[in-house]
Amino acid sequence: MINSHVHLDFASVSSPSKATTGAIVPATGKDNWDNVISCCSIDNSRHFALGIHPWFIDDHQILDLHSLEVRIEEQKPVAVGECGLDYVKIKDRNRQRYFFDEQIALATRFDLPLIIHSVHATEDVTDLLKSHSKSRGVIHAYSGSLQQAEILLNMSFFFGFGYSLASPHAYKLHDIVKFLPLEMILIETDDYKNPDELIQIAERIARIKKLAVEQVVEQCDLNACNLFNIS
Ligand SMILES: [Zn+2]
Repeated sequence: MINSHVHLDFASVSSPSKATTGAIVPATGKDNWDNVISCCSIDNSRHFALGIHPWFIDDHQILDLHSLEVRIEEQKPVAVGECGLDYVKIKDRNRQRYFFDEQIALATRFDLPLIIHSVHATEDVTDLLKSHSKSRGVIHAYSGSLQQAEILLNMSFFFGFGYSLASPHAYKLHDIVKFLPLEMILIETDDYKNPDELIQIAERIARIKKLAVEQVVEQCDLNACNLFNIS
């Protein structure tokens, strides 16, 4: 199965489980663009994305957005990201919004999906995405409300779910998964330590939606292939 969001270039991340047949490896900033590219060059089932994560915008200049544009043109990533807004960890909201807005513009210019990090910022993320009519992509590790999910679903955005969904007590997430069509769900582990997490997330989705786990894996893999234009 495809892991739609995993930082395989991080030393802390364990090696993929046997069940993993593909991976999307997002970048966090200019310091690791080369790392994600080389990490994916050794295995053609891995695909990289290039972007600037909100946690690291203080390490970047406005000019780095131009370097990002050049890299996207040269290296042909499958997505722009990860990028977005994190109102818990990073104080400067305006600077975050500026970097995110510019990356949405880049994604639409290159007709690429976005891999979006959104923490306590779903409303602003949604507003910025709305201001670029051709924006598309996935809200990774979705943590917004059911109402906000409904708006993003109407904008045809995908929703990534990680290991927190697997908990039997994650009622709010379970309700959102129950509401969303399976066709808009992606499975991811982000920076996981345990290779079995990937299948455990699929098992939880299957239980919530009362489907066979094979059907969940098949559809979520297809969703990743469609969104990132991979086969
Ligand atoms: Zn991530």
